[in-house]
Amino acid sequence: MRWLMLMTMAGALMGAEWKAGVAKVEITPEGPIWMAGYAARKHPSEGVVAPLYAKALAIDDGGKGRVVFVTTDIIGYPRSVSEEIAVKVLKQYGLERGQLVLNASHTHSGPVVWPNLSEMYPLNGEQRERVEAFTRRLVGQVVELVGVALGKMGKARVEQDQSVATFAMHRRKQTPEGIKLAPNPEGPKDHLVPVIKVRDGKGKLRAVMFGYSCHNTTMTGEFYQLNGDYAGFAQAEIEARRPGVMALFATGCAGDQNPEPRSSFELAERHGKALGEAVVAVLERKGEELKGKIEGRYQVIELPFAPFGQNDFEKELGSANAYARRRAEVMLKAMAERRISHQLSYPIQAVRLGQARVVTLGGEVVVDYCLRLRRETGNPKLFVMAYSNDVMCYIPTRKQVEEGGYEARDSFIYYGQPAGLAGEAEDILIEKVKALLKGMN
Ligand SMILES: [Zn+2]
Repeated sequence: MRWLMLMTMAGALMGAEWKAGVAKVEITPEGPIWMAGYAARKHPSEGVVAPLYAKALAIDDGGKGRVVFVTTDIIGYPRSVSEEIAVKVLKQYGLERGQLVLNASHTHSGPVVWPNLSEMYPLNGEQRERVEAFTRRLVGQVVELVGVALGKMGKARVEQDQSVATFAMHRRKQTPEGIKLAPNPEGPKDHLVPVIKVRDGKGKLRAVMFGYSCHNTTMTGEFYQLNGDYAGFAQAEIEARRPGVMALFATGCAGDQNPEPRSSFELAERHGKALGEAVVAVLERKGEELKGKIEGRYQVIELPFAPFGQNDFEKELGSANAYARRRAEVMLKAMAERRISHQLSYPIQAVRLGQARVVTLGGEVVVDYCLRLRRETGNPKLFVMAYSNDVMCYIPTRKQVEEGGYEARDSFIYYGQPAGLAGEAEDILIEKVKALLKGMN
């Protein structure tokens, strides 16, 4: 009896054992469907060249702490969708909001997820129904997926490691006419590939979750066959080279980063292979084993929009841009009905995996946020996942807000937001994330 008690105490002192479980489900829509991300597309998809997946990695610290990462070959999770999943996951598995991460690869070769960017696409009744049906099915599939991963928990060794891939390039270029979308090799970038390796009780590799800060847009709007773009091919490359291992891709701060060169299927495969190889290259070596507590915290913060008023929208009604005219109509109506906010409601999340930290951010966050968070937290290994839990607009820096351009201003029209963000949003976001991280120490 006494001996048993001592054993139990020794176990507690040494730290409980971590467990992990993984699951994946194919989410490829059936039949033609409107594709996400490019306004220029003229008709629905024409077949599938590579299937789309949702994948889940559940990790448990053997005590009370657990977290489930879900990565997905879709453009983004609108907040209404992520909240519906979160509510069901809480009810069915007792998983709190902070313990669930929903990340999207931001493929522009996947289906529209309703109502993300819904003003951008000329959907007829039938197409809208297909997109809504796809979204309904996705919710059910992801909820079930989380349950399967939680149900498959087994003894695990989880490691943190890093690799490097070099095809991401800055895409904001100063020209005499202002900032344009164009490759800019001199601009800031983040070529780090954060890697989380999951081995089973026998040391055999079971899963790898990796990230990269680059738009998943090698293929442009003239492609009509569904696929996961470079991120999909990177996961497929790893899974082909390491049978039995599940690869999960999480998008980083890719807002102002494009794969270069781009615009063909072959290039998407080439970038995917390069990223996959970068991950495979570090799989055999032992990474830093993660031990201790697991914890996830989620918070919705408010970021200020740049000032706007009725006059701005009245002027915008005469714009040459049809999307801007539509935005003006919608906003004037919202103003008349007094249901317009000058603040963007914005989700942030911090996850502690033993000594490692993961930060998740909503929206199309530009690369400086990741660089600044790593610098200011003194953690060069910080794994930052953007495109998480909601994709409602771009998140530019103060400097970019002052410069203008697509990520700072024009894209907010397509996202149906009343204005771009105010420059102060950058510091508010960074300070709130740092406080959330600090609360876990
Ligand atoms: Zn984007």
